[in-house]
Amino acid sequence: MPLFQNATFHISAHKLSELPPPAGVEVAFAGRSNAGKSSALNTLANHNRLAFVSKQPGRTQLINFFSLGNDRFLVDLPGYGYAKVPEAMRKHWQLTLASYLSQRPCIGGLVLVMDCRHPLTPLDRQMLDWYSPSGKPIHALLTKSDKLSRQAANQTLQQVRKELEANWGNCSVQLFSSLKKQGVEEAETVIGRWLFTPEDDVPDAVA
Ligand code: GDP
Repeated sequence: MPLFQNATFHISAHKLSELPPPAGVEVAFAGRSNAGKSSALNTLANHNRLAFVSKQPGRTQLINFFSLGNDRFLVDLPGYGYAKVPEAMRKHWQLTLASYLSQRPCIGGLVLVMDCRHPLTPLDRQMLDWYSPSGKPIHALLTKSDKLSRQAANQTLQQVRKELEANWGNCSVQLFSSLKKQGVEEAETVIGRWLFTPEDDVPDAVA
């Protein structure tokens, strides 16, 4: 059974003051609008509409919490980099994201979702610059890997891995396809290790 199958919608926050009090462990999902973040969350949760797959990127400006039970959460951060968002709103969200990532003690790690055809955009690098000093782990999902040949996808994987190692510590990276359900177990294993301790009752893949 997929590790996050029991994920249920918990709460949405428009601003930092609306965040639930820190408790347990949460794993944050960040990424450029349209990178495939909602699809990846839905795929991991084995749920078609847990996170809303947007027709218009950049519209959902909320921090959405999905509960896995026992104070474990997956947190969907608003997508960044959508050109049509007004400047004031962009600034507000940059600040909110930076504050959330730097001040939230219960974040177990950051999943950075990037379209494998356009990895490490300037805003992705900014996100890595913000989060990496926390010393907490970062896992990059190179999504839509079905859109590249196997060879091109593997080349991208190696290139991104090299850059992550050279510039930011504590990063891992993998290929992922929501369409083909590829990379699901690998992602579950990494994220599961951040969320659960060996004492928790979790499937063998993570323990
Ligand atoms: P978000 O804005 O980052 O949440 O991105 P979405 O999950 O809404 O996806 C943006 C678009 O990319 C949608 O049209 C999805 O159907 C498509 N998409 C997402 N993941 C994949 C994937 O793994 N493969 C392919 N081919 N398309 C995908």
